[in-house]
Amino acid sequence: MSRSLAIFGATGTIGDNALDLVDQHPDRFQVQVLSAHSNTDKLSKLAQKYAPNVLVIGTELGREALMQTLPDFKGDILVGAAGLLEAARHKVDVGVMAIVGFAGLAPAMVCAAQGGILALANKEALVAAGPLLMQTAHQNNTQVLPVDSEHNAIYQLLQLQTKETSPKSMNKSIEKIVLTASGGPFRQHTLADMANVTPAQAVAHPNWDMGAKISVDSATLMNKGLELIEARYLFDIEPARLDVLVHPQSIVHGLVYFNDGSVLAQKGCPDMRVPLAYCMAYPERIASGVAMLDLAAQGRLDFEAADRERFVCLALAEAAMQADGDAPCVLNAANEIAVAAFLGGQIGFAAIGDVVDAVLQHHPVGVVDSLEAIVATDARARQLAEQQVKRVA
Ligand code: NAD
Ligand code: MG
Repeated sequence: MSRSLAIFGATGTIGDNALDLVDQHPDRFQVQVLSAHSNTDKLSKLAQKYAPNVLVIGTELGREALMQTLPDFKGDILVGAAGLLEAARHKVDVGVMAIVGFAGLAPAMVCAAQGGILALANKEALVAAGPLLMQTAHQNNTQVLPVDSEHNAIYQLLQLQTKETSPKSMNKSIEKIVLTASGGPFRQHTLADMANVTPAQAVAHPNWDMGAKISVDSATLMNKGLELIEARYLFDIEPARLDVLVHPQSIVHGLVYFNDGSVLAQKGCPDMRVPLAYCMAYPERIASGVAMLDLAAQGRLDFEAADRERFVCLALAEAAMQADGDAPCVLNAANEIAVAAFLGGQIGFAAIGDVVDAVLQHHPVGVVDSLEAIVATDARARQLAEQQVKRVA
């Protein structure tokens, strides 16, 4: 039986990797929904190749362009944020949520209410509204499988352990969960070196090929901070038992420390097809096309502590995780605005942390009790962040 698939954010890096797995296993997956924000040319080509029932594009203009290039397309072409929600209501076996940023939250919430598997790459959704998203998934028997490589690693390690114990007793035996970080392109830069880095340098990640936003987040280590918050909600584990370890080779993706002194680690070549294959075929394992890890050729694996003084964004994210409530949502919103301003040449690299810090300080911590409240908090934090950008620009 082939599995039906919806890929939200199909034209991005994660989308490319998910579709590569579809190409490798044409009998196993059948693509039913594809979405893109603005790249109509790419979406049109994907529609010709995979013949889905539903396409989603960002604007009405984009829809007209698709109708011209796809005169024989029989399915629905939906538009914008409302179109994404409608598409997310289509029942599929696996929904891959690979939209970048807060825009992925509302469709992820709908996917979480559908049952089946939600292969979640969009970490911003969990950061902004983790408890709501997980609760919705739980109430609707949706299995949230993390695509993010570190969380996928931890998920796999916890799966091994739950076979032997109940989740409750397992929780007690976990000393800590550790996410690795490559350290990004500026791992060895001084603060002075970092002041002058360009967007092109920031997006050139040493180990992973990723979209621009997450590449900048990896360079500031905000990505690891967002991932701590992602792990906090995904695994329902308190902040004190979460930590980060810098590991420049990106071979070990996550570690679980147990109270008996045993430490389980998951390893693999840094290629997102590994976690995607795990999520898309779950609970089976399928070939991903990724080279087998050759540890002898690899030679060495290095580890070092994360430096929160040079990478202030990691410290800010940890503080937001501690503060809990809507603080992570505010952190995420401010970061999205600051990163866009950096990529657009408005502010320098170091100002990303300044903007996020200032917005967090201006915003009193509130509660996360509805999607509407979160959307309002996100909008307010974005406004504050825009003001801060103008101030430091
Ligand atoms: P990307 O920039 O390459 O692709 C983003 C996709 O989202 C595109 O298809 C784009 O059309 C769509 N999109 C952008 N803005 C949108 C909007 N406002 N509304 C609807 N769709 C929109 O990004 P990516 O690197 O593929 O990352 C996608 C998500 O996966 C991010 O949340 C990222 O943090 C997460 N992630 C990515 C990687 C990776 O290796 N690339 C690893 C772990 C997690
Ligand atoms: Mg990651």
